[in-house]
Amino acid sequence: MKPTPDHAAPADAEARRAIPPVICYPVETLPRPDLAAYRAARAGWQKVGETRVPARDAAAFEVPAGHFFRITSIEGPQVGDLNLFSADLSERFYSGKTRALHGTHLSTGDRMWSGFPTLRPMATITEDTLDWYGFDAFGGSVHDVIGTRCDPYTHCLLSEGGQYHLCCHSNLTRALAAARGLSLSAAEALVHDVLNVFMCTGFTRDTGQYFMKASPVRPGDFLEFFAEIDLLGVLSACPGGDCSAEHSSDAAACHPLLVEVYRPVAPPAGWVAPAVNGYDRSHGR
Ligand SMILES: [Zn+2]
Repeated sequence: MKPTPDHAAPADAEARRAIPPVICYPVETLPRPDLAAYRAARAGWQKVGETRVPARDAAAFEVPAGHFFRITSIEGPQVGDLNLFSADLSERFYSGKTRALHGTHLSTGDRMWSGFPTLRPMATITEDTLDWYGFDAFGGSVHDVIGTRCDPYTHCLLSEGGQYHLCCHSNLTRALAAARGLSLSAAEALVHDVLNVFMCTGFTRDTGQYFMKASPVRPGDFLEFFAEIDLLGVLSACPGGDCSAEHSSDAAACHPLLVEVYRPVAPPAGWVAPAVNGYDRSHGR
């Protein structure tokens, strides 16, 4: 957050400010997913799994490589905090690099990338019924990779020691521990920054602060993914509900979310499971 400045602007301040920005990571050289082939593979697919994520709680689900999964709003507006792991837990979603590559909010055709050293697509978004939203007048949009996940530590800091146990961080920790037979502390160490499914967020133009507003999601809306590798997903139905007012409390109206897994008749034409990143890892030595 920028305070009132202590230092006078130099004479060429406006000229410096007028320099146009350069995209940090031009993605023209990134292999683009063949969306038509992905979508064609949905014809005749079979639903093979369904997980209901209770309100203010989380649940885990398995998605084999080459399958699709959908996260659907049911019963009422609700945002979800999504963690993705490789099935063996060796790879985790890398929110920061995904943001650097695809921007602050994800939609159809964007990928969820794993961390170093594998840095490869874990999942590709194949359908987004909220893609019409775009960016609103406040700079807000949906499905962000700019927030982290609501957590009891920040809540404790900001509420003079308050203890709240149903934040997404804790929900994800409990669900991962249960899914893989881990202790809570072992699971907590693996929980990572999320894709904020259906959440509407941005940064204020004047102070640059992270904001949220009521999600435009309605029952029936969904975000659909193709699993590029064998995945364990963990999804929390945030205690913030539609995140129109507050999180980290039981004040908001909350609803469950539905996860469905679909097996296509055949993989998308031309699809090859992504190899791990090609950097040789010598780091110059
Ligand atoms: Zn949350």
